[in-house]
Amino acid sequence: MLEIVEKLKKEFDAKLAESKSNDEIEAIRIAYLGKKGAVTDVLKSLKDMDAEMKKQVGQQVNVLKDEIEEKLRLQAKKMEEIKYQMAMERAEPFDFSIPSTQEIGSLHPITIVQRQIETIFKSMGFIIEDGLEIQTEYNNFEAVNIPKHHPARDMQDTYYLSNGQLLKTHTSAAQNAIMRKYGAPKPGEPLRVLFPGRCFRNENIDASHENTFFQLEGMMIGDNISISNLIYFMKVLLSEVFERDVKVRLRPGFFPFVEPGFELDINCLICGGKGCSTCKQSGWLELLPCGMIHPNVLTMGGIDPEKYTGFAFGLGLTRLAMMKYGIKDIRVLNSGNLKALKQFK
Ligand SMILES: [Zn+2]
Repeated sequence: MLEIVEKLKKEFDAKLAESKSNDEIEAIRIAYLGKKGAVTDVLKSLKDMDAEMKKQVGQQVNVLKDEIEEKLRLQAKKMEEIKYQMAMERAEPFDFSIPSTQEIGSLHPITIVQRQIETIFKSMGFIIEDGLEIQTEYNNFEAVNIPKHHPARDMQDTYYLSNGQLLKTHTSAAQNAIMRKYGAPKPGEPLRVLFPGRCFRNENIDASHENTFFQLEGMMIGDNISISNLIYFMKVLLSEVFERDVKVRLRPGFFPFVEPGFELDINCLICGGKGCSTCKQSGWLELLPCGMIHPNVLTMGGIDPEKYTGFAFGLGLTRLAMMKYGIKDIRVLNSGNLKALKQFK
C-alpha cells in the first residue's frame, strides 16, 4: 500500500512538471484531489484496512495530499510569472516619463479665481487663513456687531444645527478668531489677512442666488490704516483679476461691522452694463462690501480701537468667478457638471 502512495507522488511530480497552463494544473488537481481523484481513492480505501495499516497509510496519504496542494499552488504562481514575463517581452517599450495624454480634469473656476487672488495678496504681505464653516452664533453675528434682533440677521437666514451652532453666512464670521489669534499688531507691521471660505444662506435658488457660495474676505489692521489703503488694495485686486480696466462705483453702504461702509459695484461684464438677468437689469453688480472696521468689532477682537484702525472687505468669490468667465447661471458652479466646469482653464 505504501508503494502505491510513493508511486502516486512520482506520477504527480512528473505530470506537474509538464503542465503548461492553468487549465492543465486544474486538470491535475482534479485527477489527484478531486472527488474521484487518485489520492481521494486511497483515502476512501482506508476504511477497509486493519488498524496498523490504516494509521501508516493514512499518515502518508495526508502528507502527500498537503504536498500536492502546496506544489499546485507554487506551479500556478510560476505560471503567472511566466505569463507576465512573456507579456512584458511582447509589449512595446514604455516610457514612464512621458506626460499623460489622458484627461486629468481641471480646477473649478472658483478655485482658479481664489488662487489667483491669494497669489496677488500674498505678494503684498497678506497671510491666508482658513475659517471654520460651522460657527457659533456669537462669531457669525455678535462679534461682527450684529446683535440679536438686528435687521441684518433677517437677510442672513442660514442653517442652524441642533447644538445651536450654524453654518456661517459670511466669511466675516472668522474675523474675531483671527484678531484673537494674532493680537494687536506691532508698530509699522499691520496685520494683513485674507480668508476665503464657503458660506451658506437659506435662499431661494435662481440664476443669481445659491444656498452655498464662496466669499473671500480681507482685513488689514494697524496703527495708521485709512480708507486710502482700502481703495489702493481694491484697485490692485480688480485690475489683476480681470486683466483689464473694469468700471467700478463706490457708494455708501451700511454694514454693521464697518463704519464708514461702502458698497463697491462693478459694471456687469456679462451684458456690458445694458442689463441682464444676472445683474437684475441694472447693469451693475454688487461685488464688494467694504469699509473701516467698526470700533466695536475691534474691541470684541481684543484690539484697542483708540490705538488701531483697520479696513475689511468681503468679496463675492462666486460672483467674481461668474463675471470673469461669463457664467450666466450660478447653479452651474455647484452642479458638478464636468462638461460645463472643465471649459474654464
Ligand atoms: Zn448684466
